[in-house]
Amino acid sequence: MKGELNMIHHIEGGYANTYLIEGREGPSRLVGIDVGSNLAAEKIKKIVGEDYGGKGGGLKLITATHFHIDHIGGIAKLKEFFPEAEINFFHMVEKYISGEERLAIPPFSRWVMGLVPVVSRIKHQFRNYCQSFASRKAGIPLPFLRKYTRIGYEPECGLAESRDIPFLPGWRLITTPGHTPDSICFYNEEYKILISGDTILNMEGTGELNRFCHSAEDIETSFKKLSSLSIETIYPGHGNPIVGAKDPMAKVRLMHS
Ligand SMILES: [Zn+2]
Repeated sequence: MKGELNMIHHIEGGYANTYLIEGREGPSRLVGIDVGSNLAAEKIKKIVGEDYGGKGGGLKLITATHFHIDHIGGIAKLKEFFPEAEINFFHMVEKYISGEERLAIPPFSRWVMGLVPVVSRIKHQFRNYCQSFASRKAGIPLPFLRKYTRIGYEPECGLAESRDIPFLPGWRLITTPGHTPDSICFYNEEYKILISGDTILNMEGTGELNRFCHSAEDIETSFKKLSSLSIETIYPGHGNPIVGAKDPMAKVRLMHS
């Protein structure tokens, strides 16, 4: 019997997509991924309240596919709503938070190629973006802002490819550097689902490898790694989920195509 997954909520309302996973252990063990804005945090609170009976104890883990503001900007607010929830990032994030390492900055040409189309398509959400920008200055990949790491909570940074993800039995962490050095995906082998973060986006209809990346070489290697997995559904960091396609990875547009 399939039992690893009951539900994935796709939550819009931040700058990036937010996902709330109800895993095998049911509604008392929810996991929030990429909570990029206060609005996304409020939507999670509402879903947990309405669909999962209130209480607030249901959210166990908050994590992110990478340490960029549009994927982490609402975590402080969500932690206020769910003080018991554990915040656990990929291990590389620890160095960003401690200041030991600065966020990677993509070359200027990649800003233009990759970020502008994304921003122009989500301009209706610009207010949310400004809101998260104003509330927490951390995870901003700009030369003069990347030193800010004030996040307002103390996360663990214990996630790694070789370790089980807490509260998510049946899911694996896949390291996919390229967009950023700390980019990761979440993969459910049984259900053939990939939560792709900003490695694969879907602003163009059939999915595309992100052009806004720190290393073009790395993201192409990461794409090859993902292509070796059996995937039927892609939940991207930006754009609509790709559901029901036969072999969605084969349709993903590559950087130079
Ligand atoms: Zn993003």
